[in-house]
Amino acid sequence: MRRKGDLPKKPCATCGRPFAWRKKWADVWDEVKYCSERCRRDRGRKARDEQADAS
Ligand SMILES: [Zn+2]
Repeated sequence: MRRKGDLPKKPCATCGRPFAWRKKWADVWDEVKYCSERCRRDRGRKARDEQADAS
């Protein structure tokens, strides 16, 4: 019952921009943390800001 315009969103772990659910992520949405392949590769570069509460 997923309506158009009502897709789940979450912030990218690298750039911080919210990105919307995509069909290709249907099976791995809970594991998706990056809006794009580029952000996935860039992870860790500025991750300190997001992981302030890691330890
Ligand atoms: Zn991103």
